[in-house]
Amino acid sequence: MFDALTDRLSSVFDRLSGRGVLSEKDIDEALREVRVALLEADVALPVVRDFIAKAKEKAAGQDVIRSIRPADQVVKITYDGLVEMLGGEGGAEGLNISLNPPTVILMAGLQGSGKTTTAAKLGLKLGKDRKKVLLASLDTRRPAAMEQLATLAVQAGVDSLPIVAGQSAPDIARRAMSAAKLQGYDILILDTAGRTTLDEAMMSEAAEIARIANPSETLLVADSLTGQDAVRTAKAFHERLPLTGLVLTRADGDGRGGAALSMRAVTGLPIKFLGVSEKIDGLDVFDAARVAGRILGQGDVVALVEKATADLDVAKAEAMAKKLAKGQFDLDMMADQFAQMKKMGGMEGLMGFLPGVQKMKKQIAEANISDKALDRQAAIISSMTKLERKKPDILAASRKRRIAKGAGVDVSEVNRLLKQHRQMADAFKAMSKDGGKGFARMAGM
Ligand code: GDP
Repeated sequence: MFDALTDRLSSVFDRLSGRGVLSEKDIDEALREVRVALLEADVALPVVRDFIAKAKEKAAGQDVIRSIRPADQVVKITYDGLVEMLGGEGGAEGLNISLNPPTVILMAGLQGSGKTTTAAKLGLKLGKDRKKVLLASLDTRRPAAMEQLATLAVQAGVDSLPIVAGQSAPDIARRAMSAAKLQGYDILILDTAGRTTLDEAMMSEAAEIARIANPSETLLVADSLTGQDAVRTAKAFHERLPLTGLVLTRADGDGRGGAALSMRAVTGLPIKFLGVSEKIDGLDVFDAARVAGRILGQGDVVALVEKATADLDVAKAEAMAKKLAKGQFDLDMMADQFAQMKKMGGMEGLMGFLPGVQKMKKQIAEANISDKALDRQAAIISSMTKLERKKPDILAASRKRRIAKGAGVDVSEVNRLLKQHRQMADAFKAMSKDGGKGFARMAGM
C-alpha cells in the first residue's frame, strides 16, 4: 500500500546522500520534497503541515554527530515524524481485556469494509492466545451476513452464537451476553450491521448496542483503499460511538495509503490492527515503528543514527562527569543540562513519571524550571560569547544588557540565571572534594 510513497522518499534520500555537509537550504529542500511525497500519497494536509513543522524544528536543534552523515539524519528525522504520526513508539497497543469476563469487543463499520472477516480474524488470534471466544452477528438485515460469520467462526476454530430468526439486534446482543456469561467465554465479539454509506439508523443502532453491551473495545473497521472517505467515516462514527480503536483493512492493496497514515492524527484513535490479506490469519497487530520502518525501507540507517545518538549522550555524560569531578561547571555545561532536560520531554515529561505530580508542578513553576523557562535560559546562554560562557565573572553591567537584549529578556533574568549557575557550580565544587567519586558513580563509570 505504501510502495509509491516508499519509492518517492527513497529518491529524495538518494539525492541527498550524494552530498557531504548539508546546508540548511538543502535540508529545507529535502523536507519540501518529503512534504510533496506525503501529499501525493494522500496524507491529509494539516497532518503533513504538522509533520513538516516538527521535522524542521528537529533538524534545527540537531546535535552535530560527526560519525553520521547529514543525509542520514534527515532519514532519521523523517522516520521519527512517521512514527509519531502513526501513534508513537512503544509498540502495539493491544486490546483492553476486561478483568470481569466476558470482554466484549464491538465491531463497527460500513458494509464491505471487512468487518465480518476481521471479527473472525480477531477470534482466531484470541483463540490462539487460549481465550474462549464467542462470535455473534447482529446483522438482522442480511441473513447471509450471519451465515458468513458462522462459517468464518468454524474456520477460525471458535464458536458462534446460534442463529435465531426474527430477533432484533439489541435482543441478539442480550442473548449473546448471557450466553457468554453462562458458558464461561472470555471474549464476546459482536459484529454489528453495516450499510454501504454513512447512515443515521446504522449508527444509532450501533450506539444502542454499545449501551447494552458496554464493550471494552469498540473497533471501527475501515477500508484503507477508500482513502479520505475512510477518514470521514471514522470521524462520523467517532461522533456517535465511543470508539476505542481502528482496524485498517486491505493494507495489502495498492492504494496510496496516505489516508491510513492520517487516520490516527485526524481521529486521535489508535490503529490497533491491519488487515493484510483475505485469509483468516491475515491480521497484523499494528506497530507504528515497524510500519514507519517499512515505509522508509531504511532500517539500517535509522538504527545507525539511534546508536550514534546514544553513544553521543554517553560520551557527553562522561565528559561532563570528568569536568565536574574537577570542580568545573561553566555555562556551556549548564546549557547542555537544559538541552538534556528538554530532550527527555522537558520537565513536564519527566514529571509524568512521578507520583504526587500536582504538588510538584507548583514548586517547579516557582523554581522557574518550566519548559518555557528552560528555553529562555538557553537563549540567554547562547547570547553570550564563548569567553563569557567559560568565565562568567567578566560579565559587567554593559555585557549583561547586551545579552538580555539578544535573548529578549530582562537584565534581572540574566542575573537570576548567573546566580543559579553560581549556586550549582558551588555545589559541584563541594561535591568534588570527595575526589569525584559521587560523579563517577552518577555517570556509571
Ligand atoms: P463486511 O461487509 O464489512 O462485513 O465485509 P467482509 O468481511 O464481508 O469483507 C468484504 C471482502 O473484503 C471479503 O471478500 C473479504 O475477504 C475482503 N477482505 C477483508 N479484509 C481484507 C484484507 O485485509 N485484505 C484483503 N485483500 N481483503 C480483505
